[in-house]
Amino acid sequence: MKIPKTIKIGGHQYKVIFPYIFTERFDMIGDHDPMVKVIRIAEVDGNLKIADSAIVVTLIHEILHAIDRNSGHNMFVGGEGEEHIKAISEGIYQVLADNPKLVSIPYSSGLSFRSILWR
Ligand SMILES: [Zn+2]
Repeated sequence: MKIPKTIKIGGHQYKVIFPYIFTERFDMIGDHDPMVKVIRIAEVDGNLKIADSAIVVTLIHEILHAIDRNSGHNMFVGGEGEEHIKAISEGIYQVLADNPKLVSIPYSSGLSFRSILWR
């Protein structure tokens, strides 16, 4: 699966490292670093390949963390905030995945969500 190598979020250019192998913690499949502007996404969980849909949900999840952190609100930090961001990430993924006309709209770059995430 291909995902973008860079994503612009809130005026910042984030580098997306995929596939990333987490050696810091074995229970992680994604994270973002707000200081160096890097998003890291795993392709495997242990020795199992992560489903493409779960990889996209994880990317959306980390993008939302970046938006939240850059905005200074920090609504999605910690316990209940993490549960909220999981729900919203799954919801956004479902809407994008199940509405091909929505994701085929070319945005300002001339690219659509479909051309970026599902090629
Ligand atoms: Zn999170």
